[in-house]
Amino acid sequence: MKILVINCGSSSLKYQVIDMVTKNAIGKGLVERIGLSGSVLTHRTGSGEKEVIQAEIPNHTIAIKLVLEALVSPEYGAIKDLKEIYGIGHRVVHGGEKFSKSVLIDDEVMVALKECVELAPLHNPPNIAGIIACQKMMPGVPQVAVFDTAFHQTMQPNSYIYGLPYEFYKKYGIRKYGFHGTSHKYVSQRAAVLLQKPLGDLKLISCHLGNGASICAIRGGKSIETSMGFTPLDGLMMGTRSGQLDPAIVTYIMCRENFTVDQMNDFLNTKCGALGVSGVSSDFRDIEVAAGQGNVRARLALDIFEHDVRQFIGSYAAVLGGVDGIIFTAGVGENSASMREAICKNLEYIGVDLDREKNKVRSEEVDVSKPDARCRVLVIPTNEELMIALETQDLI
Ligand code: AMP
Repeated sequence: MKILVINCGSSSLKYQVIDMVTKNAIGKGLVERIGLSGSVLTHRTGSGEKEVIQAEIPNHTIAIKLVLEALVSPEYGAIKDLKEIYGIGHRVVHGGEKFSKSVLIDDEVMVALKECVELAPLHNPPNIAGIIACQKMMPGVPQVAVFDTAFHQTMQPNSYIYGLPYEFYKKYGIRKYGFHGTSHKYVSQRAAVLLQKPLGDLKLISCHLGNGASICAIRGGKSIETSMGFTPLDGLMMGTRSGQLDPAIVTYIMCRENFTVDQMNDFLNTKCGALGVSGVSSDFRDIEVAAGQGNVRARLALDIFEHDVRQFIGSYAAVLGGVDGIIFTAGVGENSASMREAICKNLEYIGVDLDREKNKVRSEEVDVSKPDARCRVLVIPTNEELMIALETQDLI
């Protein structure tokens, strides 16, 4: 059985075909610059060979058409016939309060998805465009929506309601939703396998540390607290996003810099975070290199990030009432041994005892703790596409 996983952005589309027997991607790729000049599809075979297809790609329907053609190409395709695709799983960023789990898409779901656009005006419209394009190009093939927010719908009101007049929650849906749910769910399930314990018995803190970064407290497989909020801007300082701030800073900067609402929004999302502090880059690899060469602001950006993550771990340990495991995932979490080591400093009081030799891993599923550590530290590469495919398989 093969499942096609689609992740549509406004001008990009990522895809993978996953063989559900081996759980491996047998073909994957990326369409870039949809609706712009210089559109391109970069396809990779299961063994990693690359094929670059340049074409005019004015919309998501044409993008999907080209992806499907690439998938059945006799030279570099992943499958012989599109009939081999049993179902399609779509990443959808925001499911609001309507969706607490993945759903099989029908007309009613499409209406509800459109109602969620207000909450994620930049992300949900391209997700919906991808679904409509697949419905056109692959009629009759079951499609599933998998939401970034769904995993966090188990949070209780005392963690998701903000200190605002309650009517704003009712009127505008302003509350904490949380994101990266597919990743937090996947790595927590893998952690239970790695620790050889039932997920239902575990208290875990999952640290998804990539360009976007969030932390999640997971009790018995359920999200009970997370660092991203109403939008993905909240929580940790990230590559280009500020993370949590004193809310008064927003209006203060708007006044001082004469920013419009749109300019302020763009500023907080694209000019702040590690990029803004370091002045070097939003990419943690570049920042680590610059810090190594003595760049003081690059060092400061790394120190802030490490301190932020440790603060959240400490507060989530309190919320959980103890921790069995801390999971590191995504670009920085999976690859940066030095960042993991820095974060784990001073966490001995919750039972962390990192094995520095074992911690030298990259992108491998490994318990990097010393044998007697009470709280295990786990490196678990995330695989959101596989999680989407598994949820799709379950539903169809
Ligand atoms: P993601 O959003 O999960 O793709 O993660 C991207 C981030 O991970 C970027 O900031 C990269 O610089 C960072 N990253 C990837 N590999 C490494 C590494 N070996 N050391 C430090 N950061 C890394």
